[in-house]
Amino acid sequence: MIQALRGTRDILPEEVGYWQLIEQTAREILTKAVYQEIRVPIFEQTSLFERGIGEATDVVGKEMYTFTSRGGKTSITLRPEGTAGVVRSYIQNKLHAQGGVQRLWYTGAMFRYERPQAGRQRQFHQIGLELIGSDAPRADVEAIAVATEILQALGLKNLSLDINSVGRGEDRQKYKEALVAYLEPYKAELDEDSRDRLTRNPLRILDSKDRKTQEIAQDAPKIIDSLSDSSKRHFDTVLNLLTDLGIDYQIDHCLVRGLDYYTHTAFEIKSNDLGAQATVCGGGRYDGLVAELGGPDTQAIGWAMGMERLVLLLQQLTESPVNTPDFYLVSRGAVAEAQALLLSQKLRQTGFTVELDLSSSAFGKQFKRADRSGAVACLVLGDAEADNKTVNLKWLASGEQKAIAQAELLGMTEELKTRIAELRQ
Ligand code: ATP
Ligand code: MG
Repeated sequence: MIQALRGTRDILPEEVGYWQLIEQTAREILTKAVYQEIRVPIFEQTSLFERGIGEATDVVGKEMYTFTSRGGKTSITLRPEGTAGVVRSYIQNKLHAQGGVQRLWYTGAMFRYERPQAGRQRQFHQIGLELIGSDAPRADVEAIAVATEILQALGLKNLSLDINSVGRGEDRQKYKEALVAYLEPYKAELDEDSRDRLTRNPLRILDSKDRKTQEIAQDAPKIIDSLSDSSKRHFDTVLNLLTDLGIDYQIDHCLVRGLDYYTHTAFEIKSNDLGAQATVCGGGRYDGLVAELGGPDTQAIGWAMGMERLVLLLQQLTESPVNTPDFYLVSRGAVAEAQALLLSQKLRQTGFTVELDLSSSAFGKQFKRADRSGAVACLVLGDAEADNKTVNLKWLASGEQKAIAQAELLGMTEELKTRIAELRQ
């Protein structure tokens, strides 16, 4: 039997309610803040990610699914994240020509060659936001606030916001020298990746997952001590505005994004209920990226949330939301079954959810299925009802029932909706 590939999984109907809840909640909150959805391709030229994420990162260095196109000329990569493609699209479609800021969001599958475990897959899904065209600290805070609002609306608890500033290129250059000078004497004790990064990308050593390296990094000089006055001001303003909004944070001096086009704010939202894969949302400012990818000098900030991790958290909190019908339609006999099919369609057209029993089996069996379906009411059509164009309406919770003309049933939409809403409470 052919099985799904390692690191991929099926999202079955019993779980999909969580996904729909996340998508719907995020869409509502993003729409209220006038973010527009953007849909970009799932594969792009490899060079987009090499330039847009950076060759010195794990994602580009070790995790990309890259292959050559059939023609044999173009190197193609399945997107490992959303920002690079959105920024490419922003530049290619000249969205900057519209002036002002672009507030964009996306959702979809991402691909990274990783070691699969709970909350870490090879095909995974993100919801992401990009706010392009503003350098204001308020933009950073708006982006963070939208993220926290989504997480709150989902009912998630035990979340914490870690934040840091990586300043501008000049600040980082100064900091890199101080950091390397501090780390050099410990070189032999660092993990292999970190030793390698000492020359290529020393900032990334700070977020090494190796225990010993983390210990050494604890006492390293802090990047905020290398910030220029204006970078420091940006950071302080962001922190003050977060406080104004009642959003708690901790400064994490080891939270960095090591590449030149990442600037100022870097942040992560973590959960205490997820074990090792604790980060549900990661983001930051990327004032240099649009220019790096060939666009005009444009400041921006964005974040991405891992949907699998949100589902894991929701599963700890609530049952999967299920879509139960308003009406379960039971029928038996050729004429009755034909009328039931028509009636189910008409009821749906007036806004009800209706499940039609297709079995033609004995009424008793159909009634059992009606109960299992979770429907609010059952509609029964037999030969007698078919003859005089009526239907038997039975409220499943109370067992109360009455015969009613089909045409009349279709005319009492509001009354039925109110009753169903009450019974669903
Ligand atoms: P991690 O440190 O967990 O590998 P990351 O820094 O690689 O995370 P980002 O690139 O910032 O993650 O992606 C944003 C979010 O996407 C993460 O916080 C996480 O919730 C989710 N995510 C990233 N990689 C995966 C994956 N392989 N499987 C599931 N979710 C993921
Ligand atoms: Mg990763």
